[in-house]
Amino acid sequence: NTNTNTNTTHVFKSKLPDIPISNHLPLHTYCFQNVSDFPDNPCLIVGSTSKTYSFADTHLLCRKTAAGLSNLGIKQGDVIMILLQNCAEFVFAFMGASMIGAVTTTANPFYTSSEIFKQFKASRAKLIITLSQYVDKLRDTTTTNTDEKIPKIGQDFTVITIDEPPKNCLHFTLLSEANEKDLPEVSIDPDDPVALPFSSGTTGLPKGVVLTHKSLMTSVAQQVDGENPNLYLKQQDVVLCVLPLFHIYSLNSVLLCSLRAGAGVLLMHKFEIGVLLELIQQHKVSVAAVVPPLVLALAKNPMVAKFDLGSIRMVLSGAAPLGKELEEALRSRVPQAILGQGYGMTEAGPVLSMCLGFAKKPYPTKSGSCGTVVRNAELKVIDPETGCSLGYNHPGEICIRGPQIMKGYLNDDEATANTIDVEGWLHTGDIGYVDDDDEVFIVDRVKEIIKFKGFQVPPAELEALLINHSSIADAAVVPQKDEVAGEVPVAFVVRSNGFELTEEAVKEYIAKQVVFYKRVHKVYFVHAIPKSPSGKILRKDLRAKLAAPSTIS
Ligand code: AMP
Repeated sequence: NTNTNTNTTHVFKSKLPDIPISNHLPLHTYCFQNVSDFPDNPCLIVGSTSKTYSFADTHLLCRKTAAGLSNLGIKQGDVIMILLQNCAEFVFAFMGASMIGAVTTTANPFYTSSEIFKQFKASRAKLIITLSQYVDKLRDTTTTNTDEKIPKIGQDFTVITIDEPPKNCLHFTLLSEANEKDLPEVSIDPDDPVALPFSSGTTGLPKGVVLTHKSLMTSVAQQVDGENPNLYLKQQDVVLCVLPLFHIYSLNSVLLCSLRAGAGVLLMHKFEIGVLLELIQQHKVSVAAVVPPLVLALAKNPMVAKFDLGSIRMVLSGAAPLGKELEEALRSRVPQAILGQGYGMTEAGPVLSMCLGFAKKPYPTKSGSCGTVVRNAELKVIDPETGCSLGYNHPGEICIRGPQIMKGYLNDDEATANTIDVEGWLHTGDIGYVDDDDEVFIVDRVKEIIKFKGFQVPPAELEALLINHSSIADAAVVPQKDEVAGEVPVAFVVRSNGFELTEEAVKEYIAKQVVFYKRVHKVYFVHAIPKSPSGKILRKDLRAKLAAPSTIS
């Protein structure tokens, strides 16, 4: 069953047949297409208050928010930024923007001022929806490190808060209480953008990932549409939404898929194990979308034994590799559930493969497997050196093709061309293989990105900050394995001649400028950074040094 013929492309497909997908529909039309079948079913359940919005309520509030955005001058093609933890307003704003043909860029509210500003500027957002406690970061220009004119709230852009608005900001009710009659008619092309998450992809700094109506609706259809009644989500499911909606995994595989399937979404604005367990029990959560650190908590925390998790029928882990041991440990805690992984990448829309909930329990997929490639898509594995297509069981770079992948990076044709080739294959920078049962296994990563608890840490971003320091001549950042976080960033630093610099000083310098998960955990002072003749950092060499610390000098 091994194909080593280098002249032909070995294309891997889903185990399930392709399905008809009407991907001309705008994302919101598609997601709310079945609402009349279950208008009164719970759609959004706010964990902290138990306030519940039915599907009909949610649909109406999205339309009102769309009208409100339009009243504020947001037009088709404009970008808004959502800077929020999980909450109902997040959903109204994202879907509302979609309804007027506007585009949403989502950002982590814990970002520092300069991180927010970079994304705000690159995306050319006209409006930010946030909480009052984050507004100071939007005014604070001290850390933005730029000579440009800093845009002013109320003059250059609008800020809306979902709580009491500070000076020059507006209240969210201005949107959610607008008259839906003000909703303008727009004609949306399937190739129009709808979401603009930021990702560094296989190399470099974070870039805007242009996801169109077609990409996202196709991706949702690939996960939840079709005949098979047990596929991932179904009506009446209660889906745990503790992963942040500002990351595409939660936005797509939790929120959008649930809207389409008629499942309720239990919104938690932050992770706390006790609260999480209480909510699972109280709301009878049936599907839990998680990341490996959450699996760790569920598998190992003694509190788990005190709660009834019998309602869970499926746990889906994604965004980072899940160790087999951890998978086994979780199994003993939720023996009734199907436990599987999804494999995603923001640029891929994001789901490339996922475990199938249809197979007979228990545990249909093999341990360590990321399931099978989604339907209506093609996956191939190539030799990273030669580009030749590889057959079953041969590890190589995973590539994916299909209508769900991104249109490209925002205003960056070069990065787009380096990621999506002329035949339409998106190169992931992940090393994996497909086994005889068509299951996908991810074994390594050739790209630079570091993943801390599933969050992206782009080394290039930290390296740019480090070499900006007057006492640093050169620097490189690579991942180090970590039991809890999966990986943590560590830095190799070359001091400028004659300068004193301590590890603590470097750590502090970075910590002030970045969100918590991008902080440098260890600094190694070295004489030089190994580079290729073309000047590329030889990250493999640095990773090898980490594996044998006595070689570091
Ligand atoms: P992001 O764009 O932030 O979703 O990050 C995508 C990257 O996360 C992928 O290209 C992989 O390197 C990694 N990743 C996502 N899901 C998995 C998984 N199930 N197993 C291993 N790595 C994963």
